[in-house]
Amino acid sequence: MFTLTNLLRPHILTLTPYSSARDEYTGTEGVFLDANENPFGSTTAQGHYNRYPDPHQWAIKQRLAPIKGVRPEQIFLGNGSDEPIDLLVRATCVPGKDAILIMPPTYGMYEVSAAINDVQLIKVPLTPDFQVDVEAVLAAITPATKLIWLCSPNNPSGNLLQAEAIHTILKVATHSLVIVDEAYIDFANSPSWTSELANYPNLVVLQTFSKAWGLAALRLGMCFASEELIGVLNKIKPPYNISAPTQALALEALAHESEKNEMVAAILHERQALAETLTSLPSVQVIHPSDANFLLVQFADAKAVFEYLIAQQVIVRDRSKVKLCDGCLRISVGTADENERLVTVLRQMHDSPLPPNLPLGTGDEATKPELVSNG
Ligand SMILES: *Cc1c(COP(=O)(O)O)cnc(C)c1O
Repeated sequence: MFTLTNLLRPHILTLTPYSSARDEYTGTEGVFLDANENPFGSTTAQGHYNRYPDPHQWAIKQRLAPIKGVRPEQIFLGNGSDEPIDLLVRATCVPGKDAILIMPPTYGMYEVSAAINDVQLIKVPLTPDFQVDVEAVLAAITPATKLIWLCSPNNPSGNLLQAEAIHTILKVATHSLVIVDEAYIDFANSPSWTSELANYPNLVVLQTFSKAWGLAALRLGMCFASEELIGVLNKIKPPYNISAPTQALALEALAHESEKNEMVAAILHERQALAETLTSLPSVQVIHPSDANFLLVQFADAKAVFEYLIAQQVIVRDRSKVKLCDGCLRISVGTADENERLVTVLRQMHDSPLPPNLPLGTGDEATKPELVSNG
């Protein structure tokens, strides 16, 4: 049986959180002399930012809850997904003792967050078709394994993970939190795992405003889980972790959900068109099936293609040295014009392979060690 309190670090259970001025008086009318704010206003030309924002972002959560089919109390909002990723590690893993389990190739932040917190990393690679090796995962779980990270659709491979595999892990790993990172779920033809929260107390779902919603610059990540776990994340987060402008703009975005859906439809259309065009290019060997807004593409000489593209100021992500991604570049789906430019440069490379005007210093980029594989 899953018991959250067994999973949390003991001192987190007894921790008294910081109680902010906005926690202690929640009314909106009155003379506010409780938070040492500037009473006159801000030095900005537009807008007033002199008052602290709602520490619990209720307006956003009230709007988001019906869209996501959860209760507002089941939502945590973070400074990007990066914040809940880090808070989940800090809430559960004792440094130098506990572990997290990841399935490479996958998003780099899980590993970085474990490293920052001195938490052991258990790696169970995905199968060559980028699916979960369920038996190997179950065999690798130890009593110290507090978090199991799944990314679906997965970055950098782009595919959804099989639902059966996730169900099995959720059922068996009852002494761990099982986190499904759905940063790309809007691009997939599949329901969110949020619909399973009622069935699995150990399930955590991450989503973000950075991709489909087009708000990467705002830094706003969503975490959905049991009310009990969300309560713990609220206890350990920085009190005012989401700024007032971010809250206001996120509310505005949520009122225009249909525009998000239109952009998603356009990206899916472009993804299909780009995949078809790339198939016809001789340098392209494999286009991995994508349920996301990018394509993982294997080239005969990925490093040469990457550098040629850079020299023409078309920037893609070199994943050619990543496990199971030999020779692959990760290409975000752009606008029709951007994709056309990419294809034009690839065709040009085929016709005249020497990169003209290679800017100084770009040649080594692909081989530099990288800590994070972001975005
Ligand atoms: C892009 C991405 C995110 C989003 O991160 P933010 O911090 O919310 O911008 C999360 N997970 C994965 C797998 C991603 O690719």
